Amino acid sequence: MNNTPALFGGERAKQTPYGVGEPRYGDDELRELQEALAQNTLFYAQGKKVKLLEAEFAEKYGVKHAVTCTSGTAAIHTALMALGISPGDEVIVSPITDMGTISPVLFQGAIPVFADLTPHGYTLDPDSVAERITPKTRAIIAVHLWGNTCDLDALQALCDRHGLALIEDAAQAFGATYKGCPVGTRGAVGCFSFNEFKHISCGDGGLVLTDDDALAEKLRLATDKGYNRRPDALVRQPTFLANNYRMTELQGAVARAQLRKLDGIVEKRRAWCNRLTAKLIGTPGITLPEATHGVDPSWWFYLLRVVPEALGTDADGLTKALAAEGVRAGAHYIGDPIYRYPIFTGKSAFAHAPHACDTVDWEAQRCPVAEQILETGVMIPVNEANTETDADEVAFAIKKIVAWYGKGGA
Ligand SMILES: *Cc1c(COP(=O)(O)O)cnc(C)c1O
Repeated sequence: MNNTPALFGGERAKQTPYGVGEPRYGDDELRELQEALAQNTLFYAQGKKVKLLEAEFAEKYGVKHAVTCTSGTAAIHTALMALGISPGDEVIVSPITDMGTISPVLFQGAIPVFADLTPHGYTLDPDSVAERITPKTRAIIAVHLWGNTCDLDALQALCDRHGLALIEDAAQAFGATYKGCPVGTRGAVGCFSFNEFKHISCGDGGLVLTDDDALAEKLRLATDKGYNRRPDALVRQPTFLANNYRMTELQGAVARAQLRKLDGIVEKRRAWCNRLTAKLIGTPGITLPEATHGVDPSWWFYLLRVVPEALGTDADGLTKALAAEGVRAGAHYIGDPIYRYPIFTGKSAFAHAPHACDTVDWEAQRCPVAEQILETGVMIPVNEANTETDADEVAFAIKKIVAWYGKGGA
């Protein structure tokens, strides 16, 4: 066995090409699309596909209502509108997430307040959330980052104590479970994304889950300009301001076929990551992702962290060495926490919330743990097509590099 990293002239650890798997969109999606077109309407209120998707999703998740929309961002915005989040309200969010979690808060004229994360689970730290609750706080958006799940019991307890709404952002965690319940079913609402990069996709699309009948009615209005299309509606005219976030029958058709594949996709990702963890456990110089207590993650990415003092190199060094081994990896995810994005430092984020510039102490919002996660994080992409050989070669590459640096590069 050759123990010299490829970066320093050794043999590449990745000897076999990555698994390719089945095409993502196949005969099932095509058949659904043909049926949708044959309806001679692509409008959700007239066709069957979106209605069926909503019914099947709600049934699968054991929740009363599923309301579709155009994206994960639209799902979050729809939830905020339906919950009545208004100018000046504060919404507690994760500093590491997709902008789709944050923009809707800003479009409501509300203020995103960033709380810190747990160092190895990468989800909201309930203690930090508690510290950042003020009399203006109205909601917490629990981002289930990278397929792990927030401590939902702790966040729900905070919501109960302070009269807040719990919004689950499950865009990266389709199929993850918290104490046996699928994520997206514990909060007042659970939001999902079907964009191209998520566990399942219809190009772009979104969905919101809720058990609350009144909220479901508002969610529906919030996706359709406020129009009430129910046959028995007494008032059809809009009762509140809303966008057009309607899913079309084409997206509904593809998403239906994809939903049928979800369990298989999640199972394969779980098995692959569990294999990787088993091989990497105890490796010095790095820390592995840790699922929140009671959680079975669905692994959107596998993020490990380097401990530079122990490893002898940093996240960039490890990523560069892995690339030389033929292993896919990327350092730092989004680079900076969201509050360091130009949109925040330049204050253009607050076009709809001008008061936020004066009332929020942005320095006090810093999240040191989140900053360290991004600084030291190395992301290993996870895909259902990955093979056991892929896991073994990735693990071997990491251990070889760690051992080399551990011996001072000898
Ligand atoms: C992808 C994503 C979104 C936004 O979804 P889109 O469909 O791209 O609008 C929101 N939150 C998180 C955590 C995401 O990963």
